[in-house]
Amino acid sequence: MKPKVYVTRRIPETGLRILGEYCEVVYRDEFAPPTRDELLDAIENVDAIYCTLSEVIDKEVINRAGRLRVIGTMSVGVDHIDVEHATRKGIYIVYTPGVLTETVADHAWALLLAAARRIAEADSYVRRGDWRIAWAPTMMLGYDVYGKTLGIIGLGRIGQAVARRAKGFDMKIFYYDIVRRRDLEEELGIEYAPLEKLLMDSDYVSIHVPLTPETRKLIGDRELKLMKRTAILVNTSRGPVIDQKALVKALKEGWIAGAGLDVFEKEPIDPDDPLLKLENVVLTPHIGSASHETRNKMAELTAVGIIKVLKGEKPENLLNPEAANIRPLSEVKVL
Ligand code: NAD
Repeated sequence: MKPKVYVTRRIPETGLRILGEYCEVVYRDEFAPPTRDELLDAIENVDAIYCTLSEVIDKEVINRAGRLRVIGTMSVGVDHIDVEHATRKGIYIVYTPGVLTETVADHAWALLLAAARRIAEADSYVRRGDWRIAWAPTMMLGYDVYGKTLGIIGLGRIGQAVARRAKGFDMKIFYYDIVRRRDLEEELGIEYAPLEKLLMDSDYVSIHVPLTPETRKLIGDRELKLMKRTAILVNTSRGPVIDQKALVKALKEGWIAGAGLDVFEKEPIDPDDPLLKLENVVLTPHIGSASHETRNKMAELTAVGIIKVLKGEKPENLLNPEAANIRPLSEVKVL
């Protein structure tokens, strides 16, 4: 009998094809994620779940899925999964580190440049028909990027890719991370700074930490007040890393000049969210990794990872090898 995998929502064709070669695929071919009840009903008798960051895979879900051997998430962030509980139950988790790094770094830069040069605001201005004077010395002034100072919070895969791009803009680069990366300091031409110094001295701050209890509201009132009044904050990590209420205040009252955000405390954002009324912020709907190429690679990596676990082999993208202490891969083998 083929192992059963539940795919929570519509994914790129390539992932489905790989899963289909080895598994019975229960495919929920919908754009939106399943409701909580739908999810709980669907996973009772499956060997694997292929999910995205929109599905909360907590204790209840994991306990309900009595046959579950592997969770594959089409994301590098795993804050939607109770990793500890899954590991305690010997359930393997595969995810998509690496394949989306460059694409998310591109997006962070797109937001940075758009916020600095007021691209979204200028586009609306032209479309609305407000552009009536051909050129004016004081029209739509933004801020230079070239030669300025960039502060990177979280120098992991994506943070490093953002730093590499900054070299082309001849920027001075600070980074803050819980792990000091002396090996990268010379290679990337970057300097370690405590968070406070980074916030005080940077013209642009880009966040690349995972969402954990320690990073929740890492940037709040106090931190925003430390930043330059001309600074721009970019967030492509996870919404709750910034205290959004404090950010709205900072943008309204001019503690900082602007922001570029791909992620929010609540997604999708509420239609009456005050951020939507502000001109000095560029907003995108959590599309950091959304390129054709990268979404295909993410789907492939997730599917291959699931299959490897089901074959009793170690996948390259295994998040929790400690699950083997409870159930060795050889005992998982169903293929
Ligand atoms: P990574 O694990 O390679 O890097 C994370 C870095 O953050 C590490 O260097 C780590 O030491 C550091 N860090 C962890 N906790 C910290 C803390 N408390 N203070 C300071 N630094 C801390 O991860 P990555 O692949 O670079 O991805 C980073 C995050 O980006 C993911 O966890 C995910 O949430 C987010 N992400 C968002 C999108 C999107 O669509 N917007 C796409 C991919 C990833």
